[in-house]
Amino acid sequence: MKLSNRVKNLKPSATLAITAKAKALRAEGIDIIGFGAGEPDFDTPENVKNQGIKSIEDGFTKYTPVGGINELKDAIINSLKKDHGLEYTRDEIIVSCGAKHSIYNITQALFDTGDEVLIPSPYWVSYPDQIALTGAKPVIIETTEENEFKLKTDDLKNAINENSSAIILNYPSNPTGTTYTRDELEEVVEIALENKLTIISDEIYEKIIYGGAKHVSVCELSKEAKESTILVNGVSKSYSMTGWRIGYAAGNKDVINAMSKLQGQSTSNPTSISQMAALEALSGPQQVLDERCKEFEKRKDFIVKRLNEIEGFSCFNPKGAFYVFPSINGFVGKEYEGKSISGSIDFTEFLLEKAKVAVVPGIAFGKENYLRISYATSMENIEKGMDRIEEAVKSLS
Ligand SMILES: *Cc1c(COP(=O)(O)O)cnc(C)c1O
Repeated sequence: MKLSNRVKNLKPSATLAITAKAKALRAEGIDIIGFGAGEPDFDTPENVKNQGIKSIEDGFTKYTPVGGINELKDAIINSLKKDHGLEYTRDEIIVSCGAKHSIYNITQALFDTGDEVLIPSPYWVSYPDQIALTGAKPVIIETTEENEFKLKTDDLKNAINENSSAIILNYPSNPTGTTYTRDELEEVVEIALENKLTIISDEIYEKIIYGGAKHVSVCELSKEAKESTILVNGVSKSYSMTGWRIGYAAGNKDVINAMSKLQGQSTSNPTSISQMAALEALSGPQQVLDERCKEFEKRKDFIVKRLNEIEGFSCFNPKGAFYVFPSINGFVGKEYEGKSISGSIDFTEFLLEKAKVAVVPGIAFGKENYLRISYATSMENIEKGMDRIEEAVKSLS
């Protein structure tokens, strides 16, 4: 059957691919340590699960308004107010089937063929493909480990031209774990505003931030910044609710309304039961966030230390999210069983075969000669995995 050109040019999600490969090996009985996960290993909090069960029992199992129930919108408005001092109204909020779905609808609502959308690299895997699906052109701006994978203002200025329509920011970042301080953010946002760019700010890891730092939202910077930004967030990462599929966007009401039209013609409302669970997540007790963040930080400290002790790796110490993004420059060009390691894909395959450890190649995020290692797994697995990696790289010559 003939497939559309649109879908033929679409790449499968690389992060899901490695998880599938590791799963297949596990099914053969091979003990694989998985560092590929893009989701917390923690369970959904008990109060949230119970609310989901209760809403089934209460019969809250029918269509809801397309953009989400008012109670959930109000809970989102309250948390944006409490966490960032931001004021939004219900018509500036939309609830979608995950933050990924929010971003998809934003790109469909905003971009046309001929538009250019700026994406700092390394980037979250779905941005370039979602943008390409609209006909717009993703424009990648490189960042470096030396600059903590943060956008340099000169590089941003150089990438802007008359077709530039928007920029996507994501911090704390998947895959690098970097984040911006208020001052750094101000510099970037100022240039975006001067050039009339729309800012799509994916802040889904805002609650997973280390060293006592506080997440600063783009929308806090100024009235103008808030008005030019579509903020994206959700419950998947902070409340371990990836399977429930609830994300949201906040911003200009015409954009939100356009997104709602798209949802009305595609998915309709996000699951009613999940909306009730997300309502409980946002408005119920919050101490679980702190506990989990502390645990992530402990793992992060351990894994960064171990990686930097192994000759060949160098690892930036992340400020948030649950990934490390070490350089493998010290291993490129080395040989394993007569085969030369030419980049991150070869190295990932080597680790899977020799160390029985699954990671994601940096190239999936646009950055060659790096790896993404997720520490959303138990300390025991992390220790075992690091031992295996340390042992395996000894066989490289
Ligand atoms: C996980 C993730 C998302 C999507 O989350 P869902 O709400 O589960 O769709 C969006 N952006 C980034 C950077 C992510 O890592």
